[in-house]
Amino acid sequence: MLMQIQENISLRPYNTFGMDAKARYFAAFSSADELLGLNDRISVTGNLPVMILGGGSNILLTKDQEGWVLKNEIRGVQLLHEDPDHIYVRAGAGESWHGLVMYCIERNWAGIENLALIPGCVGAAPMQNIGAYGVELKDVFHSLEALDTKKRSVVTFTLSDCAFGYRDSFFKHSEPGRYVILSVTLKLSKHPVFHVSYGAIKEELEKAGVKAYSIKAIADAVIRIRSSKLPDPAVTGNAGSFFKNPSIPATQFEVLKTAYPEVSGYPAADGTVKVAAGWLIEHSGPDENISWKGYRVGDAGVHPRQALVLVNYGKANGEAIAALASAIQSSVFLKYNIKLEKEVNFY
Ligand SMILES: Cc1cc2nc3c(=O)[nH]c(=O)nc-3n(C[C@H](O)[C@H](O)[C@H](O)COP(=O)(O)OP(=O)(O)OC[C@H]3O[C@@H](n4cnc5c(N)ncnc54)[C@H](O)[C@@H]3O)c2cc1C
Repeated sequence: MLMQIQENISLRPYNTFGMDAKARYFAAFSSADELLGLNDRISVTGNLPVMILGGGSNILLTKDQEGWVLKNEIRGVQLLHEDPDHIYVRAGAGESWHGLVMYCIERNWAGIENLALIPGCVGAAPMQNIGAYGVELKDVFHSLEALDTKKRSVVTFTLSDCAFGYRDSFFKHSEPGRYVILSVTLKLSKHPVFHVSYGAIKEELEKAGVKAYSIKAIADAVIRIRSSKLPDPAVTGNAGSFFKNPSIPATQFEVLKTAYPEVSGYPAADGTVKVAAGWLIEHSGPDENISWKGYRVGDAGVHPRQALVLVNYGKANGEAIAALASAIQSSVFLKYNIKLEKEVNFY
């Protein structure tokens, strides 16, 4: 099948930051065969870079894209198998993640209710092992299929192959563009275990008068909390948390806690402590008397309610957001000797 290839198009509708960068070549694919067909066309244009795009909710476009942007539109959700305790469900990489969460909740398949309302597509979820409210993708992940564009073959990755970590996976470190995720299979549960102790879920359930927990009630609570706390990209451009919560040695955390008793940290099994990046950003700034929280330079800013979220108020470009991010990293490092790592992928 001949796929439509567009040239020099604006990527504005395709990224939640609303960056008006251009793509030299743009095409969508809805199967592995179509992707292989595109790869043949790509080889004709020489060694241009290839970017795989899902919902564009975890990227910052800092410039026009000189190469190819390929939008994954592989659809379909299938129940593969079930046993007395589990459901194995496979979803095409181009399915909406939140749509999949809702689909599973309707069928009472438990495990991803805490991950409701995370923007983007199924295929990007393993990239950074998406997580929220005490649950990560890896907790329900069974396997995925990816096209190895170098060998032109479909490869299955199991849980251990993916090397999931905190907002991290094998794919974040592999050759850019080499593996294109085609589908993801989740192992969901017929016997829900409710994770309500993280964030304000319990309080939200109480507020709503929920006495008996259900996965639907939890997803509804998560949706309400997220809608009240996070800026809606349809209104204000953003890509969610811009930085990861940094892990520091326990000894360094003790020193930090002595100086700033209100700082919160979460001890990890490896002896490090995860520090809330939002706190570090809120309690530092462009100068001693100003906090980054709510700071704005032109149309680039730090959200007034969520210091971890950088926003585009309209006409900021990727360079402006990147410059703000780098100023934040420098000031946090200067004040606390802690390096903030980006969660958002730069292109
Ligand atoms: C308001 C808001 C809230 C958010 N909250 C959370 C949250 O709570 N938890 C969380 O973890 N994230 C959160 N995010 C970040 C984001 O939603 C997730 O990272 C999501 O998984 C990105 O999906 P996407 O389809 O938009 O990916 P994109 O932004 O399109 O792509 C992200 C990266 O994955 C690669 N990629 C995409 N699809 C494929 C594929 N099929 N094969 C290979 N590579 C691929 C891209 O090349 C890119 O490097 C939030 C974002 C926003 C805007």
